[in-house]
Amino acid sequence: MDSYDAIVVGAGPAGSTAALTLAQNGLSVALLERGQFPGCKNVFGGTIYAQPVAEILPAFWETAPLERPVVAEELWFLHTDSAVRIGFGSLRFARQPYNKFTVLRSRFDRWLAEKAVKAGAVLYTKAHVRDLIFDKGLFTRGPVQGVRLDNGEILLSNVVIIAEGVLPFLTTKAGLFPQLPPAYAYTLYVKEVLSLPKEKINDRFQLEDNEGAIIGMIGFPTSTAIGKAGLWTNKDTISLIVGGYLNQLASHGLSPYMLLKRLKQHPFVHKIIQGAELVEYQAHMIPKGGYTFLPKLYGDNILVAGDAALMISGRRGSDLAMLSGKYAAETIIQAKAKGDFSAKMLANYALKINEAFFMEDIKARRGNLEYYQKRSDVDYLISSTLNELANEFFTVDLLNEKEKRERLISIIRSKQFPLKTLSDLWAALHHWEAF
Ligand SMILES: Cc1cc2nc3c(=O)[nH]c(=O)nc-3n(C[C@H](O)[C@H](O)[C@H](O)COP(=O)(O)OP(=O)(O)OC[C@H]3O[C@@H](n4cnc5c(N)ncnc54)[C@H](O)[C@@H]3O)c2cc1C
Repeated sequence: MDSYDAIVVGAGPAGSTAALTLAQNGLSVALLERGQFPGCKNVFGGTIYAQPVAEILPAFWETAPLERPVVAEELWFLHTDSAVRIGFGSLRFARQPYNKFTVLRSRFDRWLAEKAVKAGAVLYTKAHVRDLIFDKGLFTRGPVQGVRLDNGEILLSNVVIIAEGVLPFLTTKAGLFPQLPPAYAYTLYVKEVLSLPKEKINDRFQLEDNEGAIIGMIGFPTSTAIGKAGLWTNKDTISLIVGGYLNQLASHGLSPYMLLKRLKQHPFVHKIIQGAELVEYQAHMIPKGGYTFLPKLYGDNILVAGDAALMISGRRGSDLAMLSGKYAAETIIQAKAKGDFSAKMLANYALKINEAFFMEDIKARRGNLEYYQKRSDVDYLISSTLNELANEFFTVDLLNEKEKRERLISIIRSKQFPLKTLSDLWAALHHWEAF
C-alpha cells in the first residue's frame, strides 16, 4: 500500500494548489483526480482573478494557458427587446499586474496540476475516491488514515485534504457537515463554448487580440426565478452560461437547456454570437449555502477546502478555492513539523480562513440566500422597471418636463404597492448582489 504525508482528493483549483504548496515544501503528496485529466470535468464562467492567483503563483500570466486579460465589463439589465447597461473599461487592465483573465478550465486546471507534479506531487488520474479509511477507535470511529479508490486500491496518509468540489460526499462521510445544505442552497448553470474567429470577437466587442470582455445579464434570462446569464470572450471562442437557483428553476418549470435556447435568441445576444459554432456543452452547480451552512473545516487528520467547504463569495470561487487550498497545505506543513495531525493542531486552518479577507464577505452575505428565496422576483422587477423607466426617459415625445417626471413616477407606482417598493429597496440595500 502506498503511503504519503498527505492525500489530496480532487485536482481542481483547491486541490492542485494544496498539492503544489505541500510538494514545494518537501512533503510527499498524492493528488487524486477522478477525471481522465485534471480539469476535464470542471466548469466555470469564467474568470480567474490576478491578485489572489499571483499570491500563489507569482507572474503566472507568463506561463499559464490564459485566454484574454479582461479590460471591459458590463452588466445588462435585460428585457425582452431592450437593455439598461452599466459598465467599465480600462486599458490599464491589459497590462501587468492585470486584473482578471478569461480561462478555459480544461486547460488551466491541467496546467495547475502539472505545476504540482513538477514540484513533486504524484498525480493519479481516473482515480475516483470512493471512501475514507478510518482507524478503528475503541468505541467510536478513529481518525482518518487514508482513502479507498473505486478499484479497491487503498492509499494511506497522515492527513487527507478533501477538495472534491460542489458535491460533498466525502466531506459528509467525514462528519464535517452537521447538516447538508438543502437544494435551495445550490444554483445550476449550463454553459456553451461557441467558436468564433478572433477577428469577429474583436469587432463585436471592440477589442484588440490581447483584450477581453465580460457581460453579466439579469432579468430576462431567468425571468421571475433568480438567476444570471454571462458571456466571456476567450481567444477564439465565447463562453455563454445561464442558470439559477435549483429549486426556483424547478418550481418555475425552467429547464436550463430551454433557458439557454431562449437566451441565444434574444436579439442582443444573438447579434454577438451569430455564426458561432458549438464546441462544448457543460453543466455544473455552485454551492451558495454560505456562512449558514458552512461545514466544520477540519477534524482529526482531515481538512476540507474550496467548493466542498462552501468557499464562495459572489462570483468569486476559484480564487477562494486556491487560497483555501494554500492555507490547508500551510497548516499541514506546520503539523508535520510538530508530528501532530490532530484536530487541535489542524484547527489553525479554521483560524486562517476566519482571518482571511473573504470570510468577512461570506459572513456579511449570510442573509442573501434567504433574501433570494423570499424575493425570487427581485431581479425581474428591477430589470423590467429600469427598462420601462429608461424607455420613457429616452423617448422624445410631446410631454413637458413636469409631465415626463410624473410619467416616470407612475411607472414605479404601477409596479406594486409603494410600501412594498420601500421594503424591497431596504432589503435590496442589504442583500442584493449583481452576481
Ligand atoms: C457556472 C459557473 C460559473 C462560475 N464562474 C466563476 C468565475 O467566473 N470565477 C470564479 O472564480 N469562480 C467561478 N465559479 C466557481 C468556481 O468554478 C469554483 O468555486 C471552483 O471551481 C472551486 O474549485 P474546487 O477545486 O473547490 O472544486 P472543483 O473545481 O469542482 O474541483 C473538484 C475536483 O475534484 C474532483 N473530484 C470530485 N470528487 C472526487 C472524488 N471522489 N475522487 C477524485 N476526484 C474527485 C473533480 O473531478 C474536480 O476535478 C463558477 C462556477 C460555476 C458552476
